[in-house]
Amino acid sequence: MDGPARGKIAFPLKVALVSVAVCVGLLALFAMWRFARPSQRPSTVTPDMDRDPRFWVRVLLFDSISEFSLSAQNGFAVSDAAAGPAGAFEKTAQTVSIAPDRGIIVGDRTFGPDIEILPAEPYVVGLNERAWRGNLRLTLNSDGQSLRAINSVPLEGYLAGVVGEEMPSYWEPEALKAQAVAARTYALFIKHRFGANRAWDVRRTQANQVYGGLYSESPMVWDAVRQTRGLVLVCDQPEGEKIFPAYYSSTCGGHTENSANVFGDSYPSLTGVACPHCREVTRRSFFEWSSPPFQAEQVSSAITDRYAHLRILHTIVAIEPNALSDYEDFSRVATLSLTGSNGRKRKIRAEDFRLTVDPSGTKIRSSSYRIEFRNGAYVFLDGRGFGHAVGMCQYGAEGMARKNADFREILNFYYPSSALRSIQ
Ligand SMILES: [Zn+2]
Repeated sequence: MDGPARGKIAFPLKVALVSVAVCVGLLALFAMWRFARPSQRPSTVTPDMDRDPRFWVRVLLFDSISEFSLSAQNGFAVSDAAAGPAGAFEKTAQTVSIAPDRGIIVGDRTFGPDIEILPAEPYVVGLNERAWRGNLRLTLNSDGQSLRAINSVPLEGYLAGVVGEEMPSYWEPEALKAQAVAARTYALFIKHRFGANRAWDVRRTQANQVYGGLYSESPMVWDAVRQTRGLVLVCDQPEGEKIFPAYYSSTCGGHTENSANVFGDSYPSLTGVACPHCREVTRRSFFEWSSPPFQAEQVSSAITDRYAHLRILHTIVAIEPNALSDYEDFSRVATLSLTGSNGRKRKIRAEDFRLTVDPSGTKIRSSSYRIEFRNGAYVFLDGRGFGHAVGMCQYGAEGMARKNADFREILNFYYPSSALRSIQ
């Protein structure tokens, strides 16, 4: 940015000196603000640290990490799975590394291969540059060379790190609240379904829902989490009223999709609904798009590398829609038919195909498209929407909130026949 005196050669000396003084003063103020700014300090103490572990989430932060820096504002304790409480560190930062064949080194002490870092109030632990609420479990991998890091965090603190990643925090408060309830429901569902058989419940990536820890929090996000505290969605299931995987995605393109067509699981509250709300709010390129060309050989090898049972096709020479969901002015592909160079045919779920050919999901933005084969490449044309389109349409939720819908109406619209329950 241009400074006040830039380019002024014949500037009177007195004014220049005053300008310099003002600049120095501003720099000093900036420096004070910069360093006083609690960027790594929590705006709030992590709530619910004494809560039942049923309401905690174990997030896999790193599968494999070696040396790193650990920090906690007021120190931390270490609990060793074998030896119990094993040490306290009053200093705020320590280096963590691996003792080959023995265990984990924190600072200058060596512990066993499975330890938990328990930060003191405000219950925030730093791992390199990122800060996470709750505790940190570190286990030595079987290679003896790397660690797995799992963040155990009370549910509401976890959600504060999710909502700001999954939705812009400047969006309407009611949309943020709908997002908080969907994310809470989804996290608990995944925890109950898969967490019992492994050391963690969810990944911190799009594989589940994106969790950024303290970095992703804001006062608006905390308001949305607090104002919906403990609220989850349930629907009728064969075993009675239960939570379900409350999926959500960016832009449905005009109609959300049945979960059965995308993920293969079926719930009454995950059936598609006509959505008139995202068109006006979303980016144009999210609503309507066409992909760049994908070379046929690369598409074929991506699919057969990933899915061993499709190697029977040898090389894939034709791709056609097999089953479609038809909506008034567009359709979404549920399954594709693949033809091999040997004439055999096999089917693949369109969502699996899309994310194998374009793992970023940003070029083939949804499974609503028309396929053309041109000059040895496939192109996906007349695309509609961004994401898998099951459950809540996030831009649609923002659109509804701008028209004064509250979070209950938004959730009821995108998860038909669901009900809100409190898990308090
Ligand atoms: Zn929509």
